[in-house]
Amino acid sequence: MKTAASSSCDTVVKQWQKRLRRFSNKVEAASFHKFCSWLEDLYRAEMNSFIDTNFDSPLDLVRPWRDGLRLVQMGAFRKLDKKIGSFFRDDRLQRIFSFQSMYAGLAPYEALSLYAVITYMDSVEGVYFPEGGMHAMATGLANAVTKAGVQIRYDSPVTRILRSAGSRGAVVGVELGGSERVVADAVVCNPDLPVAYRTLLGGVDAPRVARTGKYSPSCLLWIAGVKGMPPANAAHHNIHFGRDWNGAFKALIEDGVRMPDPSILVTLHSLDTQGLAPDGHSSLYVLEPTPNLDGKIDWSRERDRIMGDIRERVGRLGYPTDVVVERIYDPLDWERLGMERGTPFALAHTFRQTGPFRPNNIDKRVPGLFFVGSSTVPGVGVPMVLVSGKLAARRIGDYAAIRGGR
Ligand SMILES: Cc1cc2nc3c(=O)[nH]c(=O)nc-3n(C[C@H](O)[C@H](O)[C@H](O)COP(=O)(O)OP(=O)(O)OC[C@H]3O[C@@H](n4cnc5c(N)ncnc54)[C@H](O)[C@@H]3O)c2cc1C
Repeated sequence: MKTAASSSCDTVVKQWQKRLRRFSNKVEAASFHKFCSWLEDLYRAEMNSFIDTNFDSPLDLVRPWRDGLRLVQMGAFRKLDKKIGSFFRDDRLQRIFSFQSMYAGLAPYEALSLYAVITYMDSVEGVYFPEGGMHAMATGLANAVTKAGVQIRYDSPVTRILRSAGSRGAVVGVELGGSERVVADAVVCNPDLPVAYRTLLGGVDAPRVARTGKYSPSCLLWIAGVKGMPPANAAHHNIHFGRDWNGAFKALIEDGVRMPDPSILVTLHSLDTQGLAPDGHSSLYVLEPTPNLDGKIDWSRERDRIMGDIRERVGRLGYPTDVVVERIYDPLDWERLGMERGTPFALAHTFRQTGPFRPNNIDKRVPGLFFVGSSTVPGVGVPMVLVSGKLAARRIGDYAAIRGGR
């Protein structure tokens, strides 16, 4: 077990250095130690004071002044690509350790070094694959809350959040399927926040940043069961970067068009979990980042052509592509699934859309309503969304205490 003071770097540095010596050279490998310590310090300074915390005002950013000062001293407000470049000269390593800003919807040249905290989680704490696939996490959580006495109602969409005092007071429950009413003292709302405001809270505008803010790029996702096995050197996750680095981000984020030489992620879940595909078959998960629906691609016309390109590229890379069964999700599908601007990655994490500037998990206009998920604090991704649940629970505790004290 790790103690508070123990360092995750101690565990991974040797392994990384061995890898980097082989992949790059001795000098770069030696730099990893310093880089890892920097990442770990960054994580420690950010986690308690700025990620695992509720915000009531922008002043909450300066109150934990020791961690704030530490971040300034560490260069956390410099641009990410420049900061990573100060550790590594090999531009391939600069890319490997900075592309994670894309998870937050930002290019490495525009993101602040603060976001290297994602690189820390990815490269130092490590990437884990739940036995049984990602869905095992959802069933694990469902089992835990059921054990704690929660009753889960599946296939029962909430159609309205009910409020007292002619729809202006505190929440009093939810309406399911357009008719059934469930009474509640507090409602935790998980649908994408701007969509929830629009569809469930008739008459209350979403916070301005959710209405007018900059949304993360989206993705085209191809999930398939295919005949055949992947190449022998394939890993669970395989990222195939395009050559034009900054041009790719510019296309996606600034111009709203497809990357000229797209980077793709190919994940092979069946490599590590027996039973996910029959013998001699594989599961294929291919993700290409694309602009969201604010971009210039007309998905109703372009989807088949883009999918054709992706199939061909994946085949050329040596993966099997003889499809037995498949599903494809483009930004229009994400929108149909309830995601604002057709992106499953919510508001981008620009500084002005993070922490106290991100839509809050409470809204003074709607007492008793608590938001969780990627479009509120702290932000996008499974780890952050799990923290959002913890933050909402704290809010509910405070709300219950105030109501109890009346
Ligand atoms: C292709 C893809 C790859 C990703 N890869 C990663 C990754 O590698 N690592 C990572 O950390 N994150 C990844 N993410 C992001 C991560 O999945 C999301 O950030 C996270 O799941 C968002 O959680 P959420 O609770 O906000 O939303 P969701 O997981 O979308 O949950 C919202 C839930 O609310 C339900 N809902 C909506 N409206 C209603 C209603 N009216 N009534 C009742 N229920 C409703 C929905 O059905 C859904 O179950 C990925 C996402 C995608 C799409």
